[in-house]
Amino acid sequence: MTLRRLPENLVNRIAAGEVVERPASAVKELVENAIDAGASHIDILVRDGGRTQITVTDDGKGMSRDELPLAIERHATSKLPDDDLQNIASLGFRGEALASIGAVSRLQLTSRRPVDEEAWMLSVEGGVIGTPCPVAHPVGTRIDVRDLFYATPARLKFLKTPRAELGHVSEAVKRLAMAHPDIGFTLNNGERDMLRLAPSQGDLLGSRLERLGAIMGRDFADNALSIDAEREGVFLSGHAGLPTLNRGNAQMQFLFVNGRPVRDKLFYGALRGAYRDFLAGDRYPMVALFLDVPSDALDVNVHPAKTEVRFRDAALVRGLIVGAVKHALAEAGHRASTTVGHGALAAVQSGSLPMGGGGGGYTGGSSFPAGLAERAASFFAPGSGLEAPLAAPDAFNVGVAVDEGEDLSDYPLGVARAQLHETYIVAQTVDGIVIVDQHAAHERLVHERIKKSLEQGGVSRQGLLIPEVVEMDETAVDRLNGRADELFELGLTIEAFGPGALVVREVPALLGDCDIQGLLRDLADDLAEHDEALALKDRLGDVAAKMACHGSVRAGRRLNATEMNALLREMEATPHSGQCSHGRPTYVELKLADIEKLFGRR
Ligand code: ADP
Ligand code: MG
Repeated sequence: MTLRRLPENLVNRIAAGEVVERPASAVKELVENAIDAGASHIDILVRDGGRTQITVTDDGKGMSRDELPLAIERHATSKLPDDDLQNIASLGFRGEALASIGAVSRLQLTSRRPVDEEAWMLSVEGGVIGTPCPVAHPVGTRIDVRDLFYATPARLKFLKTPRAELGHVSEAVKRLAMAHPDIGFTLNNGERDMLRLAPSQGDLLGSRLERLGAIMGRDFADNALSIDAEREGVFLSGHAGLPTLNRGNAQMQFLFVNGRPVRDKLFYGALRGAYRDFLAGDRYPMVALFLDVPSDALDVNVHPAKTEVRFRDAALVRGLIVGAVKHALAEAGHRASTTVGHGALAAVQSGSLPMGGGGGGYTGGSSFPAGLAERAASFFAPGSGLEAPLAAPDAFNVGVAVDEGEDLSDYPLGVARAQLHETYIVAQTVDGIVIVDQHAAHERLVHERIKKSLEQGGVSRQGLLIPEVVEMDETAVDRLNGRADELFELGLTIEAFGPGALVVREVPALLGDCDIQGLLRDLADDLAEHDEALALKDRLGDVAAKMACHGSVRAGRRLNATEMNALLREMEATPHSGQCSHGRPTYVELKLADIEKLFGRR
């Protein structure tokens, strides 16, 4: 065995394993280079998921004839002029991407600077470098990668289907495009443009939101709250979606640090914290946040792929994100996303709700949407609160006088006109109808009241005239008893009462008359189900929901006009009241314009 230095070629191939994991990583590196070159348009062409061809063309500052061979040399970079790893202003800095890609593919660089008469082209094949020759090409750079990984068959085997690889490419391009709204992007798969993003002019915030909307969807642009905060020189901006605009996974959660897309556990954890009270554990908000961190408080040189960063003060960054997002959510007040109303209308129009007339499209028995019968059956099932026939006189509660002089514009959630099925409050607004789920709304209000009282020093308790004894199994008693201190803080005073029972002496005053037996059983189940380590206060959403559930305004309780309007006014004044603790809306708003569409009037 002889100890020897590996040939350059092999070193590059080894490095390529880390820098270029798959076609999407090559695309990412090439697009980053184009951004660093000051391009205003970047065109990306990808064939067979990037396996046979990746071409990235930009209109940036280009390279000279003599720079071309350097560009593909390992550790050759134009981006660390002062040898200063502390102050990195560009996306690249390691000088390895082109060398790595060149080592595992057939690479061709074509480039022309604005000062040059002609462009120069250089080819590299499996690490073997040719000599530059003159060609015709506009100002800018075109990098052409053919047969990626042909030189490393092992890596080739690990590639997924072209379709899956294309998905990764598209993700990578979108992430970079979100951080650079002033640059135009196209992504073509050899057949069509999958992505076409015009450069956005105007102020940063406006153009950023426009770009985010183009990528994350119109709904996001319409239902995102602006974030703008600062702590000790770290700036946070961007947009956070209303809780009712949520997804089943974290794919629509984006973090950018100094313009660089980053995937960071700290960020996902911070978002969970910020939305904990408003979303069920398996729902994820849509968020795009941009951190600007002084370069001495950040290390971007963690991994060759540069998608990880390290913060000097992670707690500060986490606190900044949680604080700013919570603040924005509180400011949003009772707002629920417009998608709620649109979703309801779409459901009616597509005929997925049992409703007669225009939009249904029920042309014959066979065209019934699958599962409709089941859905209709469950809709009217006993216990759904809807079992009463629609026209039964006690199914609704009219009797709300319409006062001609009343000014609806004072009330965003409108004036209550009726209660239906002792469950839904129907209110009239200036330009539409609001339907409130009284139970969900009340649950939220109780939650917010408990939270507020906790902040102000304690939830007021109401002593029971006759303490109530609740019998349950021993483990449940132990579980509740073990949390007695925490429950006391939340307004519930309990004591052990023999091995199989608890006695309840006080309940939170704001619950009114409540079903104590049901409440304790639910709380015990909840404790059994959840992480022991998490304080009840941190799961206030669930706990308050359980309490509210057994409090006074349940579904099935008849409300008079004053009570209904009081509920609407309180919702308007209460932060977060647009959604329940699980991210479901507490009300649906239908605009008259949309209702007219339903009837084909528009
Ligand atoms: P890094 O980006 O870390 O410097 P790369 O291997 O990605 O390393 O690129 C090496 C060098 O090639 C860059 O520093 C830059 O000078 C030059 N370069 C690469 N791509 C482009 C481009 N699209 N336009 C202009 N110069 C480029
Ligand atoms: Mg680079």
